[in-house]
Parts: sequence; C-alpha cells; structure tokens
Amino acid sequence: MEGFSVQQVLQGVYHIGDAMGVYMTLLTGEERALLVDTGYGLEDVSAMVRSLTDKPLTVLLTHAHHDHALGARWFVKTRMFARDLPAWPVYTGEAQRRAVAQQAQAKGFAVPKDYLTAPMPKPEALDEGNIDLGGMTAQAILCPGHTPGSAVVYVPERRLLLTGDDWNPCTWLFFPEALPAQAYRENVRALLRLPFEQVLCPHRARLYPRSSFEAFLQGLTDEALSAAPRADMGRKTDTREARPDKEQQFVFDYAKFQQAAFAGGEESQ
Ligand SMILES: [Zn+2]
Repeated sequence: MEGFSVQQVLQGVYHIGDAMGVYMTLLTGEERALLVDTGYGLEDVSAMVRSLTDKPLTVLLTHAHHDHALGARWFVKTRMFARDLPAWPVYTGEAQRRAVAQQAQAKGFAVPKDYLTAPMPKPEALDEGNIDLGGMTAQAILCPGHTPGSAVVYVPERRLLLTGDDWNPCTWLFFPEALPAQAYRENVRALLRLPFEQVLCPHRARLYPRSSFEAFLQGLTDEALSAAPRADMGRKTDTREARPDKEQQFVFDYAKFQQAAFAGGEESQ
C-alpha cells in the first residue's frame, strides 16, 4: 500500500516501514498474527496488515512513544506493558499529534483530517510470556531501559530478537522516562541469554546479526560513557553521545548516569 514499504525478511516475518520512516514488524504464524508496533499512524495500518494476512491479529506496542504508538488508532485493541501507561497520554495526546502532523506536512505527506481527534484506545496490560501463533512463538519480555515498560520480543523458531527502541544502531536514552545508562545496560545485557542470531529494530530497515548487538554492549563501558562528548539533542538535559562501535551511537542523559555511578559507588563501600 502507498506509503508503506513491506519487506519479508524471514519466513512469515515482515518488516514494514511507514511513510515517516519508522518500522513495525508483522509475525504471521499458521493460526494467528502479531503486529509489533504501529508507527505514526498517518495511514491505515490495519488495512495494510489485512493486505498481508487474514489471521486473527494481536497488536503489541513495545512502548508508549508516539512513533510506535500513534498507529494504535487504527485498531480496537492493543497491548503494552503497564509500566509505560503513565507516558501514554503524553505521547498520544493532542500536542504530540499536532507536532507529528506538522512534521509530516513539512515532508509533503498527507495527514488525515481526524489525525488530532481520532479516538486512541488505551492499551490493555501486556503480560510477559509466550504468544502462540501456530508454528511460531512470540515471547514478550519486559526489558526496562529506553522506557520503564519497554518490551522486546523473541521468536525462537526464527532465532530472531525484536528489540523495540531498547536497541537501534542509534539508541536514544535521554527521554525523561529513560532509565540510567547502567540499569539499561544490565537489562539489555541479560537478553544475551537468548540464542538469537538476528535482530530487527524499529529505526532501521535491515536485519542485523547478533554480533552487531554484542559489539554495541561490549563498547558500552563505564569509560566510554564517562568520556562521551556532548550531543545537542535540543533538550535541557545534558545529553552525551558515546560510540560503542564504529557505526553505532548511544545518546544518553549524563546526569542520570553520574547519579547512578555515585549511588553505586556508595553501595559498594
Ligand atoms: Zn522510543
């Protein structure tokens, strides 16, 4: 459909870009389908999904941010970890929608007349665990970091990890609700227990090998974080950009990092 780019990256796995350039992932099993994230929602996401599968559909939001969640307007029901619900009104409210509409218009994209006013169903609480799609399993895992309720999804049959915004080659950890870099790192490192071989993330089109994810974590040392130069992200907070790997960046809230380092140092004395 116009505006969407649809790419089948593995059997039954579609990585779908929307007009604004963020990606969602559709998993299609033999019995059911799961849509992970919904994009900005400028176009009918439900109709796009229905052009790919007629199976009963579950919609999972990896977190509450607008570029993943505003497409929820095209669905009756979605699910998200409850810890992200406090941020829901902020990122799906009128001010945020207006900002997105202005960005879209500046890029020459059509904005639906009801974009600012369309009802947005509040997500139901997601539980950790397996969603059986028939011959394919989606394991919903709570991984606080980018946000307190961030979800990642593991698909054992494809050895595939969907990271949400907890990992992109450009990972952002400077929003008010983001965890300190140390807590983020610990939670994301724990994902290495899973035997995934490939990774899909929401801000890139392609599959990444596990080694890219590992290189990122290996490079995310206290030394690299301490020495990271300032990066102006247009925020009041002191944002800094580390380069854990040559083609990857990690932008984080330096004050939160320092506070956590101080608290950790006190505990260990
Ligand atoms: Zn995000």
